[in-house]
Amino acid sequence: MTHVFHRNPKQQLEFAVRGEGIRLFDQNGKGYIDASGGAAVSCLGHGHPAVIQAIKNQLDQVAYAHSSFFTTQVCEDLADFLAERAPGDLDHVYFVSGGSEAVEAALKLARQYFVEAGQPQRRHFIARRQSYHGNTLGALAIGGNAWRREPFLPILVPAHHVSPCYAYRDQLPSETEEQYAERLAQELDQKIRELGPENVAAFVAETVVGATAGALAPVKTYLQRIRRVCDQHGVLLILDEVMSGMGRTGHLFACAEDGIVPDIITIAKGLGAGYQPIGAMIASSRIYDAIVAGSGFFQHGHTYMGHATACAAALAVQRVIEQDGLLANVLARGEQLRGELRSALAAHPNVGDVRGRGLFVGVEFVGDKAAKSPLDPALKTHARLKKQAMQNGLMMYPMGGTIDGVLGDHVLLAPPFICTAQDISEIVARFVDTV
Ligand code: PMP
Repeated sequence: MTHVFHRNPKQQLEFAVRGEGIRLFDQNGKGYIDASGGAAVSCLGHGHPAVIQAIKNQLDQVAYAHSSFFTTQVCEDLADFLAERAPGDLDHVYFVSGGSEAVEAALKLARQYFVEAGQPQRRHFIARRQSYHGNTLGALAIGGNAWRREPFLPILVPAHHVSPCYAYRDQLPSETEEQYAERLAQELDQKIRELGPENVAAFVAETVVGATAGALAPVKTYLQRIRRVCDQHGVLLILDEVMSGMGRTGHLFACAEDGIVPDIITIAKGLGAGYQPIGAMIASSRIYDAIVAGSGFFQHGHTYMGHATACAAALAVQRVIEQDGLLANVLARGEQLRGELRSALAAHPNVGDVRGRGLFVGVEFVGDKAAKSPLDPALKTHARLKKQAMQNGLMMYPMGGTIDGVLGDHVLLAPPFICTAQDISEIVARFVDTV
């Protein structure tokens, strides 16, 4: 019997006792290649000496000082680091402890912004089906997994959902990428008009969809068109880069590749890379200035905001990534990973799509490749793959289940940015053995 409540009691887990580079080791000394970075978290792998040293140094100085009494140099430096590199005027960094808290803060900031702008009726949020934004009540409300929301529906904020940008399944053979992107932009436009633009606060989307759709990147021009629709209706654009941000796609901020600047962006996972829990919500100057000129401050807060040790870890992680030029490796190794998976799995009867950006890679399984029909749920592919992968010493992130009628059986690979070409080939070999 375990007293740990946070996992499924039926789940039998080994103990993680040591981490080194791209591997974790269990109590029996068995090594596992962390090809998913946990859940796209561990971008520097495990046991990185520079990060460990930075954490120790911070602990020797001050582990934690409540943000209403003090700031710390590492907190200021990390905010500067992010603001200098974030797109456009995303200059105001609000530190929290994780992804859901970052999304929650973004939703509340959008709401407060409109209350202070004299538009308090703007209270509706629009997001996309097949998306995940976290498990707190606000984040859950906008998430696209209907089954996750179901038991909590009566206590959720008003949220509405439009189609995700899912070219593999939804782009028509007769459509160009631009036409497909335009169709989706029109769907959002239509939804805003239905609700009345004066009632809509924000549109929320993952730049590249992670857990629910397996590294699903938007087609070219999609986000630009979405940005335009939001602007036309005075609706804020919130991009959730909790999974896809912090270099995972080969760009520190994934949306840089799409050439747009959201009003608010959320980051977490890769920010502290698992060495400490930390996330952030970054707001544009337009929003920040309006709040400061209005009531003066954002009515929100958590005990661990700007936690000194967490900031020290994150700053060390981000400096290593930059100083070691790891984003170039993310791009090169990502190409290699997709290329090797595609050739090794070309003849696999159920591999429908291999996709992604950088070291954010998804493999979608289908019942029939031509029809792109869903896998038979009776095969329990999701559970079988996870078990087999662990037996093969491979951590990968299978997600599945019926999502708005589509069986989303897919696997996410998000290996550490420090992977060598040889590591990638080893991951592919173990993956092929598993599936
Ligand atoms: N947004 C996205 C896109 C995520 O992938 C996740 C976590 N999978 C979250 C938000 C929530 O983050 P956390 O689990 O740290 O609360």
